[in-house]
Amino acid sequence: MASHKLPPLPALRDFVHIYRLTARKILSQNYLMDMNITRKLVRSAGIEPGAYVVEIGPGPGGITRAILEQSIRRCDVIELDKRFMPALEPLVEASENRLFVHHGDALKFDIEPIWMDAKVPKHDWLDEPPNMHLIGNLPFDIASPLIIKYLREMSRRRGPWAFGRVPLTLTFQLEVAKRICGKISTLDRARISLVSQYVAEPKFLFEIPGRSFTPKPDVAVGVVKFVPRFEPLVQVVQKVVRHLFMYKNKEIHKCIKTMYPDDMADDLTHELLSYARVDPNKTSHNVGIEELADMSACYDKQCRRFPGLFLYYFEDKQPLEFLKNKPNAVPRVYGFT
Ligand code: SAM
Repeated sequence: MASHKLPPLPALRDFVHIYRLTARKILSQNYLMDMNITRKLVRSAGIEPGAYVVEIGPGPGGITRAILEQSIRRCDVIELDKRFMPALEPLVEASENRLFVHHGDALKFDIEPIWMDAKVPKHDWLDEPPNMHLIGNLPFDIASPLIIKYLREMSRRRGPWAFGRVPLTLTFQLEVAKRICGKISTLDRARISLVSQYVAEPKFLFEIPGRSFTPKPDVAVGVVKFVPRFEPLVQVVQKVVRHLFMYKNKEIHKCIKTMYPDDMADDLTHELLSYARVDPNKTSHNVGIEELADMSACYDKQCRRFPGLFLYYFEDKQPLEFLKNKPNAVPRVYGFT
């Protein structure tokens, strides 16, 4: 990975002393002082040269330094505690016009205007995740409300997610990080697993040892990277269910065919029913929950293979080519009734 040599700066530890940045318990400030860890965090978040980055809660700037060391295009940091403003100034100078500091509360802060003003290019939702990132080592007590705010914005494609499927990398209390990524049938599976996995694919990256922080936190810390899903899974299931019951008492293959444009309907219906090992001639009321889960998983994959497919509606019969060019259209949502 290309790196960007910063002009000489005091060591991070000296920095904290020079600017008298004693960690405040009230803001749960545990600084990451080990540059090997901050570099690992930035690398594993996937921040690459040319990236646009927003860092939440930079504090004395350990992660910020590691971000700037990459040949990133622009980094904006949002910090609540004014004491860090003078400490971040030398980094702004060293950054050669790439670092911008904002004073504010991340829970209320609207990131979209920053990238709009900077004329950051927007990406299609169906493209690969762009080289744009949100990252932060946050106080634990704001990590939970913040992730709920971000998941909501992600599902509505608002805020930073108006720019595409921007990945988000955050630190959490280890136990919470494991629950967010909790797999089905494990003890880690909890409400937060479902809330997170509904709109994103969270991945547990690594554990940060307590000794890497100053002061050492009482609990271990885990890093999670969230990549927004193309479509929330529940919406995929809702759409499959709706088509499954398209015709009363007709064979299932006739119902499923209505999910696809005519020229691909036979092939994709066959693929979906074979994948889920469903008899094409049975009727919908004989379909089990496991079969529905497999059909939904297969349809989700097909939607990734054929951009625009999720937006296809039997009633409108719009060609896939047309739908493909509307990647940011928000799909129609159907309830289960
Ligand atoms: N990122 C730095 C590091 O890793 O060394 C500092 C980490 S410290 C755990 C959390 C930082 O988030 C502090 O600088 C704190 O002032 C800041 N912070 C706390 N609440 C915040 C909020 N609501 N919005 C923005 N920053 C916040």
